[in-house]
Amino acid sequence: MRSVEEARDAILATARPTRSEILPLDRCAGRVPAARRVVAAVDVPPFDNSAMDGYALRAADAPGDLPLVGEVAAGAGALAELPAGSAVRIMTGAPMPPGADAVAPLEVVTEADGRVRVPATEHGAHVRPAGGDTRAGDIVELPAAPLSPAGVAVLASLGVGEVEVHRRPRVAILSTGDELVAPGEQLVPGQIYDANSFSLAAAVLEAGGVPVELPRAPDDEEEIEAILAAAAGEADVVVASGGVSVGRYDHVRSVLERAGRLDFWRIRVQPGKPLAFGSIHERPVIGLPGNPVSALVTFELFVRPLLRAMLGLAGAGRVVLRAEAGERIGKDLERRAYLRVVVRPAEAGGYVAAAAGGQSSNQLRPLAVGNALLVVPEGEAAAEHGSTYDAILIGELGA
Ligand code: AMP
Ligand code: MG
Repeated sequence: MRSVEEARDAILATARPTRSEILPLDRCAGRVPAARRVVAAVDVPPFDNSAMDGYALRAADAPGDLPLVGEVAAGAGALAELPAGSAVRIMTGAPMPPGADAVAPLEVVTEADGRVRVPATEHGAHVRPAGGDTRAGDIVELPAAPLSPAGVAVLASLGVGEVEVHRRPRVAILSTGDELVAPGEQLVPGQIYDANSFSLAAAVLEAGGVPVELPRAPDDEEEIEAILAAAAGEADVVVASGGVSVGRYDHVRSVLERAGRLDFWRIRVQPGKPLAFGSIHERPVIGLPGNPVSALVTFELFVRPLLRAMLGLAGAGRVVLRAEAGERIGKDLERRAYLRVVVRPAEAGGYVAAAAGGQSSNQLRPLAVGNALLVVPEGEAAAEHGSTYDAILIGELGA
């Protein structure tokens, strides 16, 4: 059985970055730029302009009582030179008239009868010089991350109207199991609602991919093979759930073995020991355990980093805190465990973790209630009260 790290490395070794596509800037928020370095084509700001509402003047004329010879608003172009010994009213963002080299803010000036009394004003005061933020030709480095609102603003301010971004990986999602029924339908005895089609689609979106939903598959080897083969043709990755264990009807693993390639299928982790990784028609296939808690936790550990690697991003993109267990959590753990917890800031500083509910892997609600996975190392039977562990934040950190 592989460790989490060994399995993740093996999966990441197969990751190929997606091709790129060019999108208009208004569709680039949250997308990952294919090139992190942008050469500025213009100065930002493009011209000397006023940082304040006030009066533009020549610093050498202040202090003084100067005639007001006009007004410049934002957007004004082709300005006449400011005559020596005079001032113009100027608005924030308006271009400095040629000759003017300082701005006296409104608050320190008295204006009366077409004249202004200005105090001593330093050369350059309240002027934002052309190129003061970025110079044409500068290399603007974007972080290796999805474009943030501020990143979009930087590109817009540089006049960039289109961006080459990584295509979002298409992830085919297949739920297997004769017992599964779509939410909204009536259950008959023996059936349960299919949670994984929905949870995994949501997790794919959250990781930056595009979910491609496949028809639910019965526990039938031929049908699973046909769906997996078709999915491999139209998706970058196939994520199946269910049917990877040692039961009689666990066909995903055998389909990979027979019709594709099975690289490994067990991991020293709980929840989630049975996890099949391989390929079909050269497309990576990850067979997650069917149990909805195991499916989401293993998605977090293995699929999310894979999708991010395809987007050119490193790691899982999660904050990992050190949190003290506020109680004993879990019991009889046999492998590296990811417990469902609520992490909060502790009064004395640091963070404290409490169980988000029961820790059996069939108990789904604690995963939704919790905001973190508490990592208990292999060899420990539980998270011990007072001990400190890594906590992977998968939700919001409340108060
Ligand atoms: P399996 O991995 O197919 O042996 O399934 C393990 C457990 O997860 C069984 O109790 C299944 O009924 C359940 N399960 C499998 N797939 C899903 C699903 N899509 N939604 C909810 N439960 C599931
Ligand atoms: Mg099953």
